[in-house]
Amino acid sequence: MDVIYSVTDLKQHIKENYNNMRIGFVPTMGFLHEGHLSLIKKAILENDLVVTTVFVNPTQFGQGEDFETYPRDLQSDMVLAKAAGTHIFFNPSSEEIYPLNSSTIVETEGDIVANLCGTARPGHFKGVATVITKFFNIIRPDRAYFGEKDAQQVAVIKKMAAELFFDVSIVECPTVRESDGLAKSSRNSNLLPEERSQAPLIFKALEEVKMEFLNGNLDTTYLLQILRYNLFKITHGEIDYADIVDKKNLVKIDQVQSDALVAVAVKFKNVRLIDNITLKKEVTSC
Ligand code: AMP
Repeated sequence: MDVIYSVTDLKQHIKENYNNMRIGFVPTMGFLHEGHLSLIKKAILENDLVVTTVFVNPTQFGQGEDFETYPRDLQSDMVLAKAAGTHIFFNPSSEEIYPLNSSTIVETEGDIVANLCGTARPGHFKGVATVITKFFNIIRPDRAYFGEKDAQQVAVIKKMAAELFFDVSIVECPTVRESDGLAKSSRNSNLLPEERSQAPLIFKALEEVKMEFLNGNLDTTYLLQILRYNLFKITHGEIDYADIVDKKNLVKIDQVQSDALVAVAVKFKNVRLIDNITLKKEVTSC
């Protein structure tokens, strides 16, 4: 695995060694876990070259959020990324990605950011879209791999890639969970012990909704009642949002008529966790 720290070096390295090869790109903020590694492993199967980036992107954190305390362990990340098969490990500096006085950002607007983290974290997706655009331009990947755990991020990036005519396929990968159902996340390491024992209730609440849905309940007011009732069992954390939206355009819905996303964010003392499930509406044809 080659470890590269500068944009110029990365561009030159790819040009000289991987010309005309299929490039897979896995963007991460590091503190790698099985969720990240599942993306890398999928990318390995589908490409000739896999570039994994570790970059804690300052512009996607709002004021008072956890940029400073976000867990970091570069040495462990290198070991894990290499073991998963990464060819190039890219770890640029903030100064290079965001030069002083830089004046270009990628704005996101409309329905896709009008709910969920789009409103709970104003400016978050602008930061995500900006950094991913920069990485797409540096790496020029054929495929880029994102986790369903961040479902709104996937939707925003898919839309952005299409609207900015990036020649890249966005590949969505399933959420990897702990044995108790908690979605793996770098942030889990910042949970206090009592919060960690309650955090699996997030997925349990989502599963309760799925059960009601499978029993034929399609009314989202009712499904949200079930969701909130179960989330209130978390006494060491507060619901930031709990919503049901159309999976494609992320608009709130009254009835589940096509695939719907049930999405939740819970704020613990030092950590905010998100999770979601999809309610799959079978298409019946005559
Ligand atoms: P992060 O480092 O948290 O920004 O995540 C980098 C990428 O890994 C994003 O596309 C995430 O959606 C994905 N990811 C994070 N956690 C998981 C997980 N538990 N399962 C699958 N993918 C994940």
